[in-house]
Amino acid sequence: ATPTAIMVGTGLGARAGLLFRNAEALERAHTITTLIMDKTGTLTEGRPGVTDIVPNDGISADRLLSAACGLERDSEHPLARAIAAHAADAGVTAVALRDVRAVPGRGVQGLRADDGHGGAADGMLRLGSPRFLAENGCIDDGAVAERLEQQGKTVVGVADGTRVLGYIALADRIRPDAAASVAALRARGLQLVMLTGDNARIASVVAQALGLDDIIAGVLPEDKAHEIEKRRGPGRVVGMVGDGINDAPALAAADIGIAMGSGSDIALDTADVVLMRSELGGLIDAMDLSRATLGKVR
Ligand code: ADP
Ligand code: MG
Repeated sequence: ATPTAIMVGTGLGARAGLLFRNAEALERAHTITTLIMDKTGTLTEGRPGVTDIVPNDGISADRLLSAACGLERDSEHPLARAIAAHAADAGVTAVALRDVRAVPGRGVQGLRADDGHGGAADGMLRLGSPRFLAENGCIDDGAVAERLEQQGKTVVGVADGTRVLGYIALADRIRPDAAASVAALRARGLQLVMLTGDNARIASVVAQALGLDDIIAGVLPEDKAHEIEKRRGPGRVVGMVGDGINDAPALAAADIGIAMGSGSDIALDTADVVLMRSELGGLIDAMDLSRATLGKVR
């Protein structure tokens, strides 16, 4: 496209809430063949709510929630905010912890504040995916987690040392605009793939509801970029749309990285295109503008 066409296209985009960060993004947006989409915050609202609190035998719901609240109250993670809000509503007091730290893509862990006497190494409290707990030797028979995941919920476990205290299930709604946008993208012949750190069961519930072609689930943040690279190749133009800190490497690895305007700063900085309205439908407008800029359509 000519420099003038690029300037006009970029300006029209800005007015429509589509931020093209470079000329190449404007020129290539309409050529995307494969669109990889983050689940949380892109296809779903990204504001999960707690649906179930299931303590294991001999554990009270209060003990489970107060441990969870102690771990999650200072975290920015959407699951953390839901759990902390739920604990506050239930009037539960958080366990006092120290050295709380996030383990990205897995969960969070911390030590009891009063356990500073060189005591047993199992003074660690953890909350996160069943896999995160299992990696740290916190294992039960897994039946509760499996039942809740089959209902299409995100399930996190809470453990004290190696003892699993129980599970918290959360559900996030599919964004009201997602179905129509997905249908429009499909009509343009794009291959539509969901990428998520969440479990495969919930991923397939969302994928089926929206009619996606493929899912890549249970992906750790450090592996997301690799999953994008695997899908690139001759004759394919891979777009990746996401919003999280975890999505930034994947946005960079894609031919065209697309960020939701509501996303984290690092996602916005890394992206080639920013959808200021934070709706997947913006991508359709971006593709149309791209095509028009290249003079393919009048
Ligand atoms: P996504 O790929 O959907 O953005 P993340 O990579 O942020 O998800 O997290 C993947 C999984 O790790 C979550 O589904 C959850 O099981 C676990 N997890 C990570 N951080 C937290 C946290 N702060 N609280 C609860 N669970 C967490
Ligand atoms: Mg995310």
